[in-house]
Amino acid sequence: SLSDKLQNIFKGLRGKGRLTEDDVKAALKEVKMALLEADVSFKVVKQFIKTVTERAIGQDVLNSLTPGQMVIKIVNEELTNLMGSETTKLKLLPDNEITVIMMMGLQGAGKTTTTAKIAGKLKGSGKKPLLVACDVYRPAAVEQLQINGDKQGVPVFAMGTNHKPVDIARAAIEHAKKNNNNVVILDTAGRLHVDEDMMNELIEIRDNIDITQTVLVVDAMTGQDAVNVATQFNEKIGIDGIIITKLDGDTRGGAALSIKAVTGKPILYVGMGEKLSDLEQFYPDRMASRILGMGDVLSLIEKAEQAIDQEKAKDMEQRLRKAQFTFDDYLEYMGQIKNMGGLSEMLSLIPGLGGQIKEDMLPDDKQLGRIEAIIYSMTKEERGNPDILNPSRKQRIAKGAGVDISEVNKLVKQFDQAKKMMKNMPGMMGGGKKKRRGG
Ligand code: GDP
Ligand code: MG
Repeated sequence: SLSDKLQNIFKGLRGKGRLTEDDVKAALKEVKMALLEADVSFKVVKQFIKTVTERAIGQDVLNSLTPGQMVIKIVNEELTNLMGSETTKLKLLPDNEITVIMMMGLQGAGKTTTTAKIAGKLKGSGKKPLLVACDVYRPAAVEQLQINGDKQGVPVFAMGTNHKPVDIARAAIEHAKKNNNNVVILDTAGRLHVDEDMMNELIEIRDNIDITQTVLVVDAMTGQDAVNVATQFNEKIGIDGIIITKLDGDTRGGAALSIKAVTGKPILYVGMGEKLSDLEQFYPDRMASRILGMGDVLSLIEKAEQAIDQEKAKDMEQRLRKAQFTFDDYLEYMGQIKNMGGLSEMLSLIPGLGGQIKEDMLPDDKQLGRIEAIIYSMTKEERGNPDILNPSRKQRIAKGAGVDISEVNKLVKQFDQAKKMMKNMPGMMGGGKKKRRGG
């Protein structure tokens, strides 16, 4: 249950020192399994584990985490880095120029569907896309693009199945010039496997048409195969961006990691369903969590991080010891409480603290807004020295915040309670008697 998990977190409230080789090895065994299960290629996993091991051994363990959780935190950060620490967008030329995008990938990867999905997004952002049917091997392919283009309200350029794709592409660009289309998306033909014919066809287009970018579409469900496919496309044609489809299935999407690691090319979008609106921006951090498949652990880590910000806690602890706790600190503290959510439940799990916290000591969001207003109505001096708050000052503050003086009184009382409460919270703020770790 949630309580059990939180209890485990708070069991480790005191510092754990530094990560040892044993800590790291034990946790990474689990991580390795998780990645292989998610279909990340063995080579990538091996390299990744090596990198993480080097980074993790000797690192400080955050006060609120167990060593195992600390390793997973590092793993998650490294995974996110590996997948590109920020999102990359499609490269688009200015509106008065024609951006040409060549879609490529194996048959069934989702090229035609994704072409129409992208067109919808571009249209929505004010571009004038033209879709081009370059898959000349199946009449049904031309028709499929036509139908999807119609659904999106985007024009489709087709010349049947009796022309070479490169000639269709060339004619399409002429057509775009005449019709003020400024993004041309070429929907090319795939094959069941990578073969010479397909590659030669793409090379011919690439070498004769001024392509702005090539986009490889891969099916997340093909797992490790997707990596080989990506490698070959990148070597023979050159990939500028990647789109991973069918992530709405139950695959964990390890292919995304492998492909990014092997090609170094950015993932632009992910396909999240068959509907033409199911195309989403790629977020490396979300993908990392998904691949790691340790959602529970990760959200616990996040909670713990929010709850106890190391630096702030140390600082606050020092202030408390010097009895310097001010209204400015109180504001910050209340903000942290808000972030934790369900504070009373959490606090009740801390040994020696149960029962000290009463619901009415914890403001809800609305109250927090009023509390902020009151504190902001204080002078700097008053915030720093709450003791000088006499009735006439309180009256002025109440007026400034637009509240009744009783609310100011109540806040001052809560403030005193909080001050006492925190003095009695040995582990929470980094520990009173705890020996300081080096650094
Ligand atoms: P192409 O051969 O590469 O052009 O692939 P298609 O665009 O024809 O797609 C092949 C199949 O995959 C179709 O049934 C699509 O509806 C389906 N598809 C494409 N993208 C997605 C996606 O993101 N999620 C799901 N569930 N299905 C998809
Ligand atoms: Mg197709």
